[in-house]
Amino acid sequence: MTLTHEPIEGEHFIVVSETTGESWEIVVGLEVHCELATVTKLFCGCPNMFGDEPNTNVCPVCLGLPGSLPVLNHNVVELAIRLGRALHCTVEPSVFARKNYFYPDMPKDYQVSQFDKPINVDGWLDLPDGTRVGIERAHIEEDTGKNTHAGGSGRIHGADYSLVDYNRAGVPLVEIVGRPHIRHPEQAKTYIDELRAILLTTGASDAKMEEGSLRVDANVSVRRVGDTALGTRCEVKNLNSLRSLGRAIEYEARRQVDLLETGERIKQETRHWDEGAGRTRAGRSKEEAQDYRYFQEPDLVPLAPSAEWIAAIDAAMPPLPAARRDALASSAGVAVTETSVVIAVQRDLDQLALATIAAGGDGKRVLTHVEHNLSGDGATDLNPATFAQLVSLELGGQLTATQAKTVLAEMVTSGRAPDVIAAELGFEAMDSSELEGIVDGLIAESPDEWADFCTGDDKKRGKLQGFFTGKIMKATKGQADGKAVAALLESRRAESL
Ligand code: ZN
Ligand code: MN
Repeated sequence: MTLTHEPIEGEHFIVVSETTGESWEIVVGLEVHCELATVTKLFCGCPNMFGDEPNTNVCPVCLGLPGSLPVLNHNVVELAIRLGRALHCTVEPSVFARKNYFYPDMPKDYQVSQFDKPINVDGWLDLPDGTRVGIERAHIEEDTGKNTHAGGSGRIHGADYSLVDYNRAGVPLVEIVGRPHIRHPEQAKTYIDELRAILLTTGASDAKMEEGSLRVDANVSVRRVGDTALGTRCEVKNLNSLRSLGRAIEYEARRQVDLLETGERIKQETRHWDEGAGRTRAGRSKEEAQDYRYFQEPDLVPLAPSAEWIAAIDAAMPPLPAARRDALASSAGVAVTETSVVIAVQRDLDQLALATIAAGGDGKRVLTHVEHNLSGDGATDLNPATFAQLVSLELGGQLTATQAKTVLAEMVTSGRAPDVIAAELGFEAMDSSELEGIVDGLIAESPDEWADFCTGDDKKRGKLQGFFTGKIMKATKGQADGKAVAALLESRRAESL
């Protein structure tokens, strides 16, 4: 089975079966749990802190002791609404519900969540590739504690004993349920990247996958290309890196296609990703909502944020990644899907790029530098006026692309002006007549190569272009501008035909 990135009808991606040659489409919907970056937990005053000594951030409320009562944390609601609005959701009056099930890391034997009336509904998230992924809901719920199984494989089966840490019990979560609009493992990773950028921008979460503050479950199904009905899905859990997410989706799609092609049916179930073995394994068969015996949490009142509160959150919303990409692309005069635009926003260098363009720097050239030459620390401190000056020197032919890169690196460390640095490094503008003299000398020196360059086929000419360019660069100690050299070679060739 091969995965192909070839889009069908502009947006879908397919899997081609090696056995039958049939084309299948992967359908993925992601559920993301993210811990909110509050100071205290959801219903008590215990610190919401990762990595503390086990069972130190606990109290009767988050330990579920009899007679204790929850008090809703105002800041959880604030962050949940901010996140919901950033995902273009409608904020609705919501109700907390008890989701009943037994697990040793959950001291109350129920999880306070939201069920039929979640706080955020019906939004979307735009990916850099232009795909809009629907958001079904983003509701508030509490996290569980954490079990550690000692001995054996680290899983509960075969363990000698288990330890439980309740520091995480009652930490606030927002569960973001995405619609099944994702069509490729890479797209799933991009979705998480984009969501993480939104979580960081809004300050809702630190979104650290490695610390478990952002956890991803993937609902994966497949269907024959052209089918519109959704196939039976499996929910893959235990995906704690982007790499695992991509691999698990690919494995699961492959497994399902193989089953369906041999006439078998897909059983709806929870599956666990085993990173070491590179495969998913069946877990419990999937619970239905009725299994959880949801009912309204009697110790909490319904939540009805005022229109004024929501409006104030909207008004204070920082510019989000998609809007920042739009602004940068239109200012630079390039497509919003350009890699350089995506990278500029990812690196938080879009403000610098915009200011540099405003100071007269050529948009495309500025973005090229941001993408290729400004990945390190200190780039955000660059002065837009001097950055624009550098780009002008380069476009004016006083600096080659390679020299500009060197000067830019020096500007980042020293903050000095590009012309000063260029003069110090001996990067002088090469006189065009000087370059012409060198080229004519080389042509005279290598008449056979030159004749082949003028009349040879594309392949030969490409090879000889490299031959002449190399010699020119050597003769000029790398000072010649690559573009000027190419143009000069081409005009000499035209003359001699
Ligand atoms: Zn507590
Ligand atoms: Mn959940």
